[in-house]
Amino acid sequence: MSYLSIRGLHKQYGATPIFSDINCEIAQGEFVTLLGPSGCGKSTLLRCIAGLTEVNGGQILLEGDDLVPLAPQKRGIGMVFQSYALFPNMTVQQNVAFGLRMQKVATADSMRRVSEALDMVELGSFADRYPHQLSGGQCQRVALARSLVTRPRLLLLDEPLSALDARIRKHLREQIRSIQQELGLTTIFVTHDQEEALVMSDRIVLMNAGRIVQSGDAETLYTAPVDAFAAGFIGNYNLLDADSASQLLLRTINSRVAIRPEAIEIGEQGTIEGHIRSHSLLGNVIRYRVEARGVELLVDVLNRSEADLHSAGKAIALTIDASAIREVA
Ligand code: ADP
Ligand code: MG
Repeated sequence: MSYLSIRGLHKQYGATPIFSDINCEIAQGEFVTLLGPSGCGKSTLLRCIAGLTEVNGGQILLEGDDLVPLAPQKRGIGMVFQSYALFPNMTVQQNVAFGLRMQKVATADSMRRVSEALDMVELGSFADRYPHQLSGGQCQRVALARSLVTRPRLLLLDEPLSALDARIRKHLREQIRSIQQELGLTTIFVTHDQEEALVMSDRIVLMNAGRIVQSGDAETLYTAPVDAFAAGFIGNYNLLDADSASQLLLRTINSRVAIRPEAIEIGEQGTIEGHIRSHSLLGNVIRYRVEARGVELLVDVLNRSEADLHSAGKAIALTIDASAIREVA
């Protein structure tokens, strides 16, 4: 049996259903990312697991215990939110010790555990500071330490990096992942950022409008999206309707087709003639907008030399790797 097992979970706010049948199995020590657009139900699902909102049906089993009837503090779950939610009038040390005080852990033991948790997030020397004396990234590390110190059975992270700037976000990503692996902590991480999901996760659970669309490792989601939503949400697929796809590939196609921009090659010789419309330079990649047989396509090319730079209007020929042409629902 799985470590965490969510079965037939149903949740509505008033008369509005948010999800009606969520099923998901998570293994011990797994880092699972819930990925999906804003409003699809990610936070609601986490809040149901944490017990911060009531469920209307279904089961949440953690190590075989049904969590649904348990109060939040009895579930053994740590949670970190996008907003830091630190107590402003308490020091870092007091903030982190808070959960242990609630659990009536003896002072000496508590002091030791707090200092261990602060070391883990590299804030050992910040114990006496107040939240207003910390940066956003540091506040979020305090929030993480505050969850870790209670030794949760399950860690839930709801967009913990979304309010931080890009550089700090990348650093914290790595820190969270390495702590999670060191502790073997079963973790559900919520994000709407596909790159974050692709680099951090053992497994990605892709959600849309209250449904789990696809679940798998980063490579599977990237290379084998189950439908047009999955293709559109991860990476930058060219998504063609059946008519455009037939026109481009010169054969009858009855479904939509998804083609990754990096699976198309631009050369002097190729099977499909077209011309460059425009380009943008994305660092080491050049992204072209190309027109071929009346269809507009994105093509990504590695920016290796000046020979890779083509100007607007130039006639080119495209080669599309057959294995990269995916028919999607
Ligand atoms: P996400 O975290 O994926 O952005 P949420 O779980 O926050 O999505 O929200 C899912 C849906 O539930 C949204 O349509 C949102 O408006 C609605 N919702 C969230 N919280 C409440 C609430 N407390 N009362 C009523 N509707 C809510
Ligand atoms: Mg949310």
